[in-house]
Amino acid sequence: MESKPRILKVGITGGIGSGKTTVCNIFETLNVPVYYADERAKWLMSNDPELIQGIKELFGDAAYDPDGHLNRNHISGIVFHDPEKLEQLNALVHPAVAKDGSAWNQAQSGVPYTLREAALIYEAGIDKHLDYVIVVTAPVETRIQRVMNRDGVPREAVEARIARQMPEAEKVQLADFVIVNDGEQALVPQVLAIHRRLQEESFKN
Ligand code: ATP
Repeated sequence: MESKPRILKVGITGGIGSGKTTVCNIFETLNVPVYYADERAKWLMSNDPELIQGIKELFGDAAYDPDGHLNRNHISGIVFHDPEKLEQLNALVHPAVAKDGSAWNQAQSGVPYTLREAALIYEAGIDKHLDYVIVVTAPVETRIQRVMNRDGVPREAVEARIARQMPEAEKVQLADFVIVNDGEQALVPQVLAIHRRLQEESFKN
């Protein structure tokens, strides 16, 4: 069987509201395939029979509405007060996303690299399985305002989520590439520069 050329695996992360999805949308215009891991995790929780079974065992049948939709309020109400349950939930979801992401990667061809977008890459140790990681940054106040506007949530809710993530400065230290999305520096030239570098890197493989 003829082996396929190796496609580089590139992660893209950043704090809440930094603009990961916005940046990925630009990469998509360059025909770069993007795996949106957080979105996909939500989808799998409502569509992967094995995962659904595991979630029901952990949280009871009330974890799903009668029409089969995930009851997020039921689950978040429990994990908010019970860190062990949160860990058990992650232990179910992470392998399901890893399996799904790996199948998605296998299905790609004819591209120099793929992107995997996720809020938690360093926190979850996923960087070990990636060739490069791009970190998107923005000033914290800008991020808070963006998420408040986008989701219609209060400042405190955004601040609480920021407090649970790895500080941006630490991510920047670990990053292979940084994209500054402060609303002043243009995104497209930054994306193009990284795209060219990654194309070059893939030719060396
Ligand atoms: P999350 O971690 O919550 O998924 P994210 O990092 O993916 O967030 P986006 O959803 O891309 O961030 O951006 C957050 C919000 O800020 C969106 O409403 C987006 O349209 C807006 N936004 C992102 N970048 C910019 C920018 N440079 N100028 C103006 N608005 C922006």
